[in-house]
Amino acid sequence: MPILRSALGRDRRPAAAGLAALALLLGACTIPTGDDPPSASATEEQVDPSAAEEPAEEVPTAERPLVGKTVFLDPAHGAPDGLESEVEVPDGHGGTVPCAVDASATEAGYGEDEFVYETARILAGHLRELGATVVLSREDPHAGPCLHGRAEAAAESGADLAVVLHADAGPEAGFGFHVAHADPPADDAADVDAAWAIRDALADRQLTPSSYTGQDGVLATAEAAELNLAGVPTVLVQLANPANTIEGALLPDPTVRSGYARALRDGVVAVLTAEPAAAAEPAPDAESQDPVGAESGDSTPD
Ligand SMILES: [Zn+2]
Repeated sequence: MPILRSALGRDRRPAAAGLAALALLLGACTIPTGDDPPSASATEEQVDPSAAEEPAEEVPTAERPLVGKTVFLDPAHGAPDGLESEVEVPDGHGGTVPCAVDASATEAGYGEDEFVYETARILAGHLRELGATVVLSREDPHAGPCLHGRAEAAAESGADLAVVLHADAGPEAGFGFHVAHADPPADDAADVDAAWAIRDALADRQLTPSSYTGQDGVLATAEAAELNLAGVPTVLVQLANPANTIEGALLPDPTVRSGYARALRDGVVAVLTAEPAAAAEPAPDAESQDPVGAESGDSTPD
């Protein structure tokens, strides 16, 4: 939920602050199509015929910092049709979990499965524009593979980072996002670093860390099978709590999803470049070509 922390007292309802912060998420933003332009680096091949069949390898640039990186995006839920959704699959700790669990939903019935799917698609477009190869776990707003199949796909992708997207079924009074990593973490703790970097990127976009779980927006957990099965550095982001009436009411708004996607994009860039996301932002006059800087910088609510 985009609630300004500084403006929100513990006992107050967050409506006014939520709307003020929501304004930070809104505004014109051209959502990329995800279609990368063809590489323009063929000069050497034209000069040297012997190299004509080996196109020059694209290298990361300020505009395309994620060239050479693979990101696996798993919009959670979306069960397979039929009985398969009821089978038990490994949980990564020697036990089993259901292939799929029910998605949460807002009071008005907007489903978590659709919310995270649409957000992931926007995020995928941003990341592809920045040069990344993006693999999505599903291509349907409401259906997808079993939990275990997603984990296998993540491992198969060889992703540099896997991001699982959820919207929590939290307590009605709770709000805000949290980023979960496995507990114990992976051997190199890359998942912990990634969780904090993504947490920082969301907070920098004025999104509010969870009021009800984790520590300042990060949660170490042994409970999430997605984190235990993936085989690549993985974080699980609970973007919001649809059970909260105010936060839930915002989620069907496409501009809100775009705001979440931009914040996640900043976080992924931060993780995969190991630099602050701001380092990848272009000069102001380049913002029409590059989505990174479109909404960033010294934005202050009017
Ligand atoms: Zn969920």
